[in-house]
Amino acid sequence: MSLLEVTHVEKSYGDEDVLRDVSFAMDRGDVEVIVGPSGAGKSTLLRCVNRLTEIDGGTITLDGDPIHSLDVNDLRRRVGMVFQDFNLFAHRTARGNITLGLEEVLALDHATAVERADAYLDRVGLADQADSYPAELSGGQKQRVGIARALAMEPELMLFDEPTSALDPELVGEVLEVMTDLAAEGMTMLSVTHEMGFARSAADTLTVLDDGQIVERGPPEQLFENP
Ligand code: ADP
Ligand code: ADP
Repeated sequence: MSLLEVTHVEKSYGDEDVLRDVSFAMDRGDVEVIVGPSGAGKSTLLRCVNRLTEIDGGTITLDGDPIHSLDVNDLRRRVGMVFQDFNLFAHRTARGNITLGLEEVLALDHATAVERADAYLDRVGLADQADSYPAELSGGQKQRVGIARALAMEPELMLFDEPTSALDPELVGEVLEVMTDLAAEGMTMLSVTHEMGFARSAADTLTVLDDGQIVERGPPEQLFENP
């Protein structure tokens, strides 16, 4: 059984059809990159997968369970999301941004949550920034906290919505490095990104979404050869 199955998904905002009959599946360990023009529906597709947005038609299943049948907190624990604009809480430290979900969603005790947060900060190379507030961090460091926060929930699937688009060019590499390591470690990843180097080196599958429809899908080497 696939980890994620998206079947005939439809999504509209008013009379605008944003996703039209979108179907694809991902197995455990798959790394998929979605590309396409602005307004194609890429972000909407990711948001449907963790129910930040509800679909209008079709089905999405996670490990066989229709996502609408899951408790939304349970779904968001199992599906981690990394946002373009980081979505960190400004008044909490790097560590505090991570412990929040561990304590409130997973109900870990404070000491256990701190221990786990610090382990994931270490994993993204930020062991020495645990006590820093977002305003004291670079964009690349903020995004690595965002990744650590999602990873600390120990999700089955990670969604990345243009994780490097808000970064100065010289800070993109440190985030892609973390993503490349995760891909190599077998994390199942669905990423919207314009970083073609990452797509070429790390993705198993490249999907082109245009005007709400999948117009191409296949191994990146195949799509790069036949544009
Ligand atoms: P992409 O990520 O490919 O740039 P989006 O998924 O962000 O595309 O947007 C696809 C279309 O849906 C756009 O026309 C956008 O304006 C519209 N859209 C996205 N979110 C909303 C919303 N919350 N309300 C109304 N329209 C939206
Ligand atoms: P903001 O919350 O800063 O306004 P968005 O509008 O993109 O930014 O957030 C939409 C929703 O996403 C909010 O209700 C927020 O609580 C939720 N959210 C924040 N972080 C996560 C996460 N890691 N996974 C799922 N949902 C999240």
